[in-house]
Amino acid sequence: MSTVKSFINGEYVGSDELADVVNPATGEVVNQYCVATEAQVAKAVSSARDALKGEWGKLGTQERVEILYKIADGINARFEEFLEAECLDTGKPYSLARHIDIPRGAANFKIFADTIKNAGDEAFHMATPDGTGALNYTVRKPKGVIGVIGPWNLPLLLMTWKVGPALACGNTVVVKPSEETQLTTSLLGEVMNDAGLPPGVFNVILGTGAKVGNALITNPGLDAITFTGSTPTGQRIAEAAAVGVRDSSLELGGKNPGIVFADCDMDKAVEGTIRSVFANCGQVCLGTERVYVERAIFDEFVQRLKEGAEALKLGDPKDPETNMGPLISEAHRNKVLGYYKKAVDEGATVVTGGGIPDLPSELKGGSWVEPTIWTGLPEDAAVVTEEIFGPCCHIAPFDSEDEVIKLANDTSYGLASAVWTENVSRAHRVAAQMECGICWVNSWFLRDLRTPFGGAKQSGTGREGGLHSLEFYTELSNICIKL
Ligand code: NDP
Repeated sequence: MSTVKSFINGEYVGSDELADVVNPATGEVVNQYCVATEAQVAKAVSSARDALKGEWGKLGTQERVEILYKIADGINARFEEFLEAECLDTGKPYSLARHIDIPRGAANFKIFADTIKNAGDEAFHMATPDGTGALNYTVRKPKGVIGVIGPWNLPLLLMTWKVGPALACGNTVVVKPSEETQLTTSLLGEVMNDAGLPPGVFNVILGTGAKVGNALITNPGLDAITFTGSTPTGQRIAEAAAVGVRDSSLELGGKNPGIVFADCDMDKAVEGTIRSVFANCGQVCLGTERVYVERAIFDEFVQRLKEGAEALKLGDPKDPETNMGPLISEAHRNKVLGYYKKAVDEGATVVTGGGIPDLPSELKGGSWVEPTIWTGLPEDAAVVTEEIFGPCCHIAPFDSEDEVIKLANDTSYGLASAVWTENVSRAHRVAAQMECGICWVNSWFLRDLRTPFGGAKQSGTGREGGLHSLEFYTELSNICIKL
């Protein structure tokens, strides 16, 4: 058992208040972490501000880019250590984290190093009454100290998705990972030091959102806040950011539809929907929780999705055959099981699952639930309207394109959608009408990191990714020179 610590001004710092870290696959306490004190939160922010004026602030873009490359190399050099840490914290299958979480954690530094290196500036010649003209050009400056608050579902991936571009643009950061998953973020401190990042540029504070998170977002020393998490917390962050008129970027929840037309490639649609519903035990903001299937293929699709769900292998995260892990915590399991019960109370037909799986004794204490599929509920049922964030979906039939577009968009969220059809005209037509940040056609979770990412409606504000991240993490100044 080790003690996880905050990382402030280039050093690990402990505190007297210890909290347990539980492995969700077994329910065992595997580590403890030191809860950051208010003074440590304040010190992290002031160190980040001082670092802006120090060596870091004087580096040119190319020098920053080289450090970012070293950070990516540092993660890859310690790949197995990051993998172990991420899987211990989340319980997710090693096979998943090996292919998604850790490689993307490293890639997030490389891609934004390349983005800033290749980003051009705007320049405009303008006419003036005296005929000599003027030259306008933009200069990108760091925004300052950025507060980064991340969730527990893809801890390293989602945190570096924000820290990568923030550092590429010359900012400094104070990161608060979720109290459930702090190991990889804390470990990153060592990688930062080894990469030669000056002290104070990257700081990590550990603790709950209510205490440590709140102390961070209300600290006036932050210039902007970037957040991934639930919609209610996002609203709280936007309120805190409004004090001092600070910018915020909010990537929030979803209740994403999957639409399966009768002209789909059935194998692709089934395989893709299985992934989009059950990957990471359904704890993916982009995951599908509402599936609409054209009536002609409804029964066959439901049967095939049931077979796919029942073929998932739950078990030891280290087993290469395991492809579904536990939920993140007992509290989250209680929430998800509450929805499993509610679905039945509201009259759902349980196609498969609905309970706790029977697993070997060493996993019995973990936060496991069965992959679950329902049919037969009205559109206003709780499990059809509220984000569950578990391995489950409701499948409903539809009869026409217009009807399904209306059903898919009838939600307060607007993060993602997936459309399955082999008709190319329909693909474009339907995708264009989806009220969400990203619409996949015949795929799911296919991400080019140069593209804009974010949510419509209550799924968030702002877009990050590629040049769009640079818009958030830089302050653009225009310089106008009279010629
Ligand atoms: P929460 O909103 O509960 O927590 C997210 C982060 O915010 C955690 O670090 C949490 O800390 C912190 N936090 C909580 N309360 C406060 C506060 N008052 N002040 C400052 N920080 C606070 O979300 P979950 O962790 O439960 O994540 C699941 C949610 O995130 C789902 O709704 C999901 O859709 C969404 N999500 C969205 C993604 C996207 O890209 N759009 C990606 C992944 C998830 P702590 O946990 O320590 O209390």
